[in-house]
Amino acid sequence: MTPADGPAPRRLVVLAGPTAVGKGTVAAGVRAEHPDIWISVSATTRPPRPGEVDGVHYHFVSPEEFDRLVAEGQMLEWAVVHGSNRYGTPRQPVVDHLNAGIPALLEIDLQGARQVREAMPEALFVFLKPPSWDELVSRLVGRGTEDEAERARRLATAEVELAAEDEFDVTIVNAEVRQACHELVALIENPPDVVRGTPTTLL
Ligand code: 5GP
Repeated sequence: MTPADGPAPRRLVVLAGPTAVGKGTVAAGVRAEHPDIWISVSATTRPPRPGEVDGVHYHFVSPEEFDRLVAEGQMLEWAVVHGSNRYGTPRQPVVDHLNAGIPALLEIDLQGARQVREAMPEALFVFLKPPSWDELVSRLVGRGTEDEAERARRLATAEVELAAEDEFDVTIVNAEVRQACHELVALIENPPDVVRGTPTTLL
């Protein structure tokens, strides 16, 4: 394809960070205010929460269907997150949107981000981190969507995940959602050239 055939392919942006840091909220803010940015819809074996819509928040699939998608090579990445549920990014929609010149955002966990880094190293990897550990704990408790045992498991995971910041190209501190959204949109619309190993923090 030559440039005259259509818009140049876009650079993929991957947003990851510890559990409960607010990745979903920041992504929802981008979705609400920037319909021009496409956000990948993941497949998951987790059951829907109240208010979640199939095909909008996730593609809710059975374990057998998830197995099939993986076996057919249809997942760009996938991981078991927080216990037994699997989550994955369908590959083709990502490729199609980027090739059509549409900016694409993945909001995924750290294990998935590492796989995308293998498959698409040219992507921009953005780490969302909380202003403090105490803030992360209070967000997880305040969310009230997990029971005590699940919260403990997610916090243990979050502690390990926080240590992965150095693997990312850019860090956004999620002190205030609108500001974090704004910084993320700026990165998506104008992805910086990054030299791997020299991370930048946006405060
Ligand atoms: P939740 O069950 O709260 O919606 O999401 C749990 C975790 O799964 C979050 O950390 C979220 O980033 C992650 N997640 C959502 N979709 C994907 C995906 O497609 N791939 C991976 N690896 N993680 C995902």
